[in-house]
Amino acid sequence: MVAYKTKMVERISLPAREQREQNLESAGYNAFNLDADDVFVDLLTDSGTGAMSDAQWAALVRGDEAYAGSRSFDELESAVGDVMGFDHVVPAHQGRGAENVLYGALLEEGDVVPNNTHFDTTRAHVANQGADPVDCPVPSAHDPDVTAPFKGNFSLERGRELVDEVGADSVPVVVQTITNNSAAGQPVSVENTRRVRAFADEIDARFVIDACRFAENAYFVKQREEEFAAASIAEIAHEQLGYADAVVMSGKKDGLVNAGGFVATDDARLYERSRQRAILYEGFPTYGGMAGRDVAALAVGLREAVDSEYLADRIEQIEEFGSLLEAAGVPIYRPVGGHAVYLDAGAALSHLPDEAFPGQALVCELYREGGVRGVELGSFAFPDTDRPELVRLAVPRRTYHREHFEHVADTVEAVLEKGESVPGLELATEPEMPEIRHFTAELEPLS
Ligand SMILES: *Cc1c(COP(=O)(O)O)cnc(C)c1O
Repeated sequence: MVAYKTKMVERISLPAREQREQNLESAGYNAFNLDADDVFVDLLTDSGTGAMSDAQWAALVRGDEAYAGSRSFDELESAVGDVMGFDHVVPAHQGRGAENVLYGALLEEGDVVPNNTHFDTTRAHVANQGADPVDCPVPSAHDPDVTAPFKGNFSLERGRELVDEVGADSVPVVVQTITNNSAAGQPVSVENTRRVRAFADEIDARFVIDACRFAENAYFVKQREEEFAAASIAEIAHEQLGYADAVVMSGKKDGLVNAGGFVATDDARLYERSRQRAILYEGFPTYGGMAGRDVAALAVGLREAVDSEYLADRIEQIEEFGSLLEAAGVPIYRPVGGHAVYLDAGAALSHLPDEAFPGQALVCELYREGGVRGVELGSFAFPDTDRPELVRLAVPRRTYHREHFEHVADTVEAVLEKGESVPGLELATEPEMPEIRHFTAELEPLS
């Protein structure tokens, strides 16, 4: 049931078909190169794209821009304490800034870091410290057809194998990402978090939670983990995050703001080391690269993120979106996760081999047919891995309504009707770093 009404609106429009065709061509068939004004329903990401509440806008006006000792920082500190249960907070400009601060304080060259699945900036920051990021997902994580409640879990079996291979001394940190963004936004159970905590204790490692979507995760725990059926979202969040020595957070996700992030911990020494690094890379520790007003809005957003009616609305909206898409005839990753629906482009456009980028072809058709923007997460974004050919349609928080999702489903239906006439693509330019080519590369349709 919807938990808010509209107080401010932003005009959107669908460019004419010939215009969309032209836009696609000038964007080099890469949706990242499209102007947002030319997009009708923008499902590129849920990161920093949501709508703030009236309470957050009010906090923004009252934001304290003092360089040191800002009142807005006190508000953030108390929100993090109340909602997440940590005493110390080091603010950063966004999640990856927090990653740089924390992993720089924890890691040394040659270390090995297991994580259920590293998000791409996490992987890059671990590697940037000279350490080796290793994914330990459960086997079902990348299978779109297995129905299981917690496909985001950390595989203890894989983690133990890794420690046997490299030795416990090489593993100073174990990370768990909740929800598991890179595994279709699948949730992680509190039981799994407990086991990972015990595993970290066994090998004398620190335990970090990447908490970007901790509130969405808590909602799934309440629905799916019997022990917590009667608990509040706030209680579940406290319990799960309480097992960690530290968390990294992107305010752009469950902080319900457009910018910001932080590290939080109860460990006084880790706090001190992180604070020093934050001064170097982010800013003085009471603003950390954010404007005071953004800190103030984040303090309010964190409290709103654990509101159970807001969360029920959010998770149900995405589930409903998944059902609309399925009814339109496109196979999707099941179960639907917390922030996006993933389309199985390999199955939807089965006439295209992986080399012809079926995922990117589907992204282009969604724009061509309906002005919809999604993102490819298949062989275009991840060259030389045998990932399934997925297209992610991420849902900004509190932003779109059923009519928008019906439009996307109608668009998908129109694309599927074109069948084998949907062309594959080939690369027209090859950026220097293959790992991030999908952000800038240009493509051409195959004749
Ligand atoms: C978004 C995200 C990050 C990085 O946060 P930014 O604010 O985009 O820098 C880290 N981990 C996960 C799981 C994320 O989803």
